Amino acid sequence: MSLSADAIAGNIRSVRERIQGAASAAGRDAAEIRLIAVSKQMPARSVVAAIAAGQQSFGENAVQDAATRQALIDAPGTDWHFIGHLQSNKAKAVAGHFDWLHTLDSIRLAKRLSDSRPDAAGPLRVLLQVNVARDPDKFGLVPDAVYGVTEDLLQAGHPGIELCGLMTIGQRRATEHQRRAEFIALRELAADCADRFGARYFTELSMGMSDDFETAIEEGATMVRVGSAIFGPRPSAGSRPG
Ligand SMILES: *Cc1c(COP(=O)(O)O)cnc(C)c1O
Repeated sequence: MSLSADAIAGNIRSVRERIQGAASAAGRDAAEIRLIAVSKQMPARSVVAAIAAGQQSFGENAVQDAATRQALIDAPGTDWHFIGHLQSNKAKAVAGHFDWLHTLDSIRLAKRLSDSRPDAAGPLRVLLQVNVARDPDKFGLVPDAVYGVTEDLLQAGHPGIELCGLMTIGQRRATEHQRRAEFIALRELAADCADRFGARYFTELSMGMSDDFETAIEEGATMVRVGSAIFGPRPSAGSRPG
């Protein structure tokens, strides 16, 4: 059962208020935090309801689903974020249908994305996914690998992509304290990379989901990825992404 349009609009309002509250508490301007509504597995009408409520950014993790709903929903000004693990055989589809990719984790993928990005779309903005907790079951670069990959990326100078920052997914069964420590580690890694490689490549920190976005904002998130707090539980709720 998906939520009604009114319920979705109400949830967006309340998530925005909480973002505002967390930003103020941290002495930050809420305008610098982008709310990404994670609409994966939700029907197109839920996305339509969110757009009607003023929502602009959407997160998806299945290329084909996203392409289908983008074709259905004519909403200029909407930006689409690919937040799932990306296999290189799907790179071309992501490059053709998205504005942002949060899960870059290899040079090879970067090249494929750049080569297949349509010129007219401008560069695909990418974030490097970091496996901060070094969990062997999770995707992403271990923190130490971020330096080398960044160096290679900048050297290759792929014109179809633009490096904008880092992303992480908090550990599944972590305490608030552990999550906060992961967010701090991502922020510090980004600051270190900004020093080494240039601040313009590390302006974005994508971290925080429905159950921890306020903590993430306190620790510097510029993008929060919120699904169930907006759209309600997903059919496969309980499985947290890796
Ligand atoms: C599904 C997903 C989210 C949203 O999760 P919620 O807990 O529903 O807010 C955020 N980030 C990623 C990478 C996801 O796959």
